[in-house]
Amino acid sequence: MSEIYGLARHPLKRLPRIATARSSQILRRCKGSVLHVCTDTPSIALTFDDGPDPNITPRVLDILRRFRAQATFFMMGEAARQHPELVQMVHQAGHCVGNHSWDHRKFPALSRLERFDQMQKTELILQPYSRKLFRPPFGDQSIASRFDAFCLGLEVIGWSAHGYDWCEPDPYAMCDALMQRVFPGSIVLLHDRLCEQELHRCPSSRESIVINRAPMLKAWNSFSIRSADDIR
Ligand SMILES: [Zn+2]
Repeated sequence: MSEIYGLARHPLKRLPRIATARSSQILRRCKGSVLHVCTDTPSIALTFDDGPDPNITPRVLDILRRFRAQATFFMMGEAARQHPELVQMVHQAGHCVGNHSWDHRKFPALSRLERFDQMQKTELILQPYSRKLFRPPFGDQSIASRFDAFCLGLEVIGWSAHGYDWCEPDPYAMCDALMQRVFPGSIVLLHDRLCEQELHRCPSSRESIVINRAPMLKAWNSFSIRSADDIR
């Protein structure tokens, strides 16, 4: 039986190109980011961005528990400050907690001081649960911003399969589209909350981005679903 990773408990093999000797690991942490992993097992990593949200995150946790799936939650510091109990709840459910900036600004447009502020403030709020993983807002980054994350000891995690769950109201259509893009070792991007910048692009209610998880997880019963910490 396969599993679904949240990047946490069951180590996945890294791609040879991004994980060889310790020295290259340091170089990768400085210059690159993890987009997917190399694995011999039918495993994928689920990630949820932009939370936590008091209405949605607990329901996502319920669905993950039902399907025995693990995930990584890349949280915004601003939202985590308002709901520290949800950060703890995610951790206690066995999932990984990652850093998704303070308020979801585009990192390449910020000064170095602003970038440090965004990451450091969020790390403080997520303590003691942070796994030192960072996902840039919108996936936008530059050499300078990746270097900043390296300086703060944060591993940058991207994705290889986007669920487009903020714009696809039909859970079965989203599931079908994702099935075409997901392979063993894929890192899947989903959301458990929408940041303010994305709300105007969302034609459906926030509720719909929760209820569309079950068909997807059911369809992935041939995969092992895990979290993201193991690939570091
Ligand atoms: Zn985001």
